[in-house]
Amino acid sequence: MFPSKPVLVFWETTRACSLSCIHCRASAITAPLPGELNHDEGLRLIDQVTSFGRPYPTIIFTGGDPLRRKDLLDLMSAASARGINFAVSPAVTELLTHDALLRLKQSEAASISISLDGANERTHDAIRRNPGTFLRTLEVIEDAVQIGLGIQVNTAIMKQNLDELPEIFHRIKSLGVKTWELFFLIKVGRGGGVEDLTPDECESACNFLYDASCYGMTIRTVEAPFIRRIAKQRMSLGEYWSSAKYQNLHTDLSRLEGEPQSRSTLRPAGTLDGDGIIFVAHDGAVHPGGLLPFTLGNVKYDNLVRIYQENQLLQDIRQRKMSGQCGVCEFKDICGGSRARAFGYNGNPLSADPACVYASLAA
Ligand code: SF4
Repeated sequence: MFPSKPVLVFWETTRACSLSCIHCRASAITAPLPGELNHDEGLRLIDQVTSFGRPYPTIIFTGGDPLRRKDLLDLMSAASARGINFAVSPAVTELLTHDALLRLKQSEAASISISLDGANERTHDAIRRNPGTFLRTLEVIEDAVQIGLGIQVNTAIMKQNLDELPEIFHRIKSLGVKTWELFFLIKVGRGGGVEDLTPDECESACNFLYDASCYGMTIRTVEAPFIRRIAKQRMSLGEYWSSAKYQNLHTDLSRLEGEPQSRSTLRPAGTLDGDGIIFVAHDGAVHPGGLLPFTLGNVKYDNLVRIYQENQLLQDIRQRKMSGQCGVCEFKDICGGSRARAFGYNGNPLSADPACVYASLAA
């Protein structure tokens, strides 16, 4: 657990973006919204991050599309000058050119993250609602790998692409990607209109990801902390999930990749919204995570360090004061359940995570 400082500070630098993806958390629109942190306010936020003390949390410049901020390079330089590591999550639009990738590399960004939500044009471009984005995304990934810019591929898991996960994995691994981050859908923003995965589908996806982590790829999940329960069940307790969905994913992975090459790279520990993670929205509002729109204060007039260390909800999350099955679960210290999904379903960020199959099996 991370009581004194987060590992990652996500800063939604803008909500402006020229894509309009079906699941966009930010409901991004083409123009910036009023109230967006201006340049000086952004510099003050970066200074607040140094107040956590060394080693500083890493800043993730996200959006919307952070490339829509004309001062992005200056903000990255300011972070770099203060000794803060940072990464950037640009959208694949006409702004993400070869030159833009070179500038990101020169700015000493630790990495960029690029979204790939389908194994083919049909799926990806339908989700991103922009024809041609799939092919352009593959070009960007290839380009970033070639120029030596650290790259992580993000995939939002939903019913539309669940069966394509083995192929997406195979494709990005072939391109030389070393880190894959899977976002499990939360019904916020435009994601409110996208159908949820069932608990069985979530469990199957996580077990597939455990298998995929045995091929040398670093795999992380967002809003599926129960993968850490699954890692522990499989590594230490020898317990396996069997369902038709998981078997199909497993078979497809074996067909594409052959025998596993290593032990799982998953670790049965990690961050949770508000516990190692803090999110600053475009207007300075502070939330426990990007998918948990519960406002804790605003960096325009509150202190980020004080919010992170003293806010009661964050302390409750870190002390695992959850209700329902998450509150009594023997895995709560390593998992804790998605606080964003609990809030989205129940309006209570401390209630049980309804996507966890373990909760329903144990009930
Ligand atoms: S019941 Fe809650 S704490 Fe336990 S594994 Fe499931 S999500 Fe995690």
